[in-house]
Amino acid sequence: MARDPRYDILFEPIKIGPVTAKNRFYQVPHCNGMGHPNPRAVAGMRGMKAEGGWAVICTEECEIHPTGDVSPYKEARLWDDHDIPALAMMCDAVHEHGALAGCELVHNGPSCPNHYSRELPIGPSHQPVNSYDPMQARAMDREDIRNYRRWHRDAALRAQRAGFDVVYVYAGHDLSLPMHFLQRRRNNRTDEYGGNLENRVRLFRELIEETKDAVGHRCAVVVRYATDELMGPDGLTLEESQDIVGMLAELPDLWDVNVSAWLNDSTTSRFKAEGNQEPFIAFVKKMTSKPVVGVGRFTSPDTMVSQIRRGVLDMIGAARPSIADPFLPKKIEEGRPDDIRECIGCNMCVSGDFTMSHFRCTQNPTAGEEWRKGWHPEIMPARKSADEVLVVGAGPAGLECARTLGQRGYRVHLAEASGELGGRVAKEAKLPGLSEWARVRDHRAYQLGKLVNVEIYRGSRLDAPHILEMGASRVVIATGAQWRRDGVGRMHGFAVPGFDAANVFTPDDILAGRPVEGPVVIYDDDHYYMGGVLAEKLRRDGHEVAIVTPADLASSWTQKTLEASHIQRRLLEQGIELLVKQDVVGFKGDHVELACVYTGRRSQRACASLVTVTARLPQDALYRALLAQPGALAGAGIKSVTAIGDAHAPGTIAAAVYQGHRYGRELDEPPAGDVAFKREIPNLAV
Ligand code: ADP
Ligand code: SF4
Repeated sequence: MARDPRYDILFEPIKIGPVTAKNRFYQVPHCNGMGHPNPRAVAGMRGMKAEGGWAVICTEECEIHPTGDVSPYKEARLWDDHDIPALAMMCDAVHEHGALAGCELVHNGPSCPNHYSRELPIGPSHQPVNSYDPMQARAMDREDIRNYRRWHRDAALRAQRAGFDVVYVYAGHDLSLPMHFLQRRRNNRTDEYGGNLENRVRLFRELIEETKDAVGHRCAVVVRYATDELMGPDGLTLEESQDIVGMLAELPDLWDVNVSAWLNDSTTSRFKAEGNQEPFIAFVKKMTSKPVVGVGRFTSPDTMVSQIRRGVLDMIGAARPSIADPFLPKKIEEGRPDDIRECIGCNMCVSGDFTMSHFRCTQNPTAGEEWRKGWHPEIMPARKSADEVLVVGAGPAGLECARTLGQRGYRVHLAEASGELGGRVAKEAKLPGLSEWARVRDHRAYQLGKLVNVEIYRGSRLDAPHILEMGASRVVIATGAQWRRDGVGRMHGFAVPGFDAANVFTPDDILAGRPVEGPVVIYDDDHYYMGGVLAEKLRRDGHEVAIVTPADLASSWTQKTLEASHIQRRLLEQGIELLVKQDVVGFKGDHVELACVYTGRRSQRACASLVTVTARLPQDALYRALLAQPGALAGAGIKSVTAIGDAHAPGTIAAAVYQGHRYGRELDEPPAGDVAFKREIPNLAV
């Protein structure tokens, strides 16, 4: 199909200093949990985006020196020449598809405690490191500053030798030394690098000039700059940023601008909408003739065009939308924007950085698996047999399984008990802030609609006799899970006394609209989003709500999705009480019995309803019923019965999508073996 001429503007080439981007799609730096220990995985992932049409593909943070060691996080590294080949692999993968490779050089100063290198952290002034690690950064003297500038210059030269076309000077996210020098709260120097704005900008300016001098004839030298820290006069403000951008306006070849810190930049859809950074970055284009790139979880080509036409941005920056769909630009170019797998803004990808493991994406099950599993997001092996597959349950797992099998050419029957596709996402997307999660269903439903070999049966609750009659040779059970009612979870291995009362509710009850009476206590021993989101919903419904959690904050796991502080703020602002480090040890109908996690000291909390959010159990009765009759299965010509997603083991939506995809992709393929993916084994010869 031809591209819609409305979108032509997105495909105009953009000159960035000495290099030219073939279009306006720019993958800004983003971490991925793989980093320097996994160079092949990184090259595979970045190369895929180049193949998908992005014109500029950047690294994650790239450390330049052992005094700026961000371990245990896995990022890129250019400490010395030994690190060049790994990044050259990424550059080659990017260049193969005509894209430019960018390297975000980083020294994180007091933001990194240097666990691995054991070098002393450095900063503009003496100060504790950002984390709660028991150490301080020491104030850099003039020689330290000279050394730092040399390290940066040397790293830029190495980046050029690795093959990068774009080299960054990074002053963002409250993470990097040039930003720390700009911040009054961190920089109380009295020399030419502290005090007035000109002095605080000095280091940033010197780095840009020196990087240009070192590599500027061949590489674009771009800056990443955070225009506002959203912390009032304690931080960099928009006002101050206007002066800073004004002072440096024409110096870099491109401005990559955003807000700080990371949690305000990569905010989830629960808290910020597409394009939300515009008020903080729109001024930059008015102050410079150089191209400006910015982010805003852009997935709509119309929004992208509007950003350009209205003079907000020159290039459309993206991290998450490029993870959810590496082929986003190609799909617009080929006139099929409806095929874009839109990011849902859940930040499951970000959790890869915090768990220091290959990142994963709720929408794109192939993210991080490009090299180690050889998974291409758009190309799958054609079917290897004429088997028909029955998929039971159209939640994230069943939908993705049916889509994958269908696109491989299998004949697929997808049966769903309810009248609606989507399973848990259809229900959860109705909770406050989660509406974009429906994209998990919508993308798959749209793709399935195009497949003539897939039949969908809505309102079809199947039982074992049905399935034996249907004539499919493979059966996949994706019937989901149900929340437990008895309080069993992390804290309790046995049912909690009193949880069998009529006024105890599970999240399934709330999602099904069972009426609740306030005041409500939510017992959250799950620790992801559900407890907090239900609290918001019930509060909006007019109830008095308290969350009781054995953790030290509400929705504690969301620290890994950058949401925890947004969540605490919202809950507290809505008047929801947070009772932390407390366990619920009993329910008496009109109050819960609480126990302090440390001392066991008991207290009581009155409530008319208790919502228990602890654990889930697979809804696998159908699976077990089928497995219990091997003779009948053989007689019906059924070769295999497989449980996937929550019906196999309750987990995240991302895990369900991944399992659905894995089944679909691996059917009839040679078995992968005990270790189902390639690993990067250190070469002991060097
Ligand atoms: P997952 O996250 O693993 O995909 P979900 O709970 O989101 O799981 O989805 C499971 C889906 O399976 C739900 O839409 C549910 O209605 C459907 N389902 C459950 N039991 C049956 C059944 N016996 N026949 C058909 N569909 C079923
Ligand atoms: Fe978007 Fe979620 Fe995928 Fe990250 S994990 S790219 S936020 S859909």
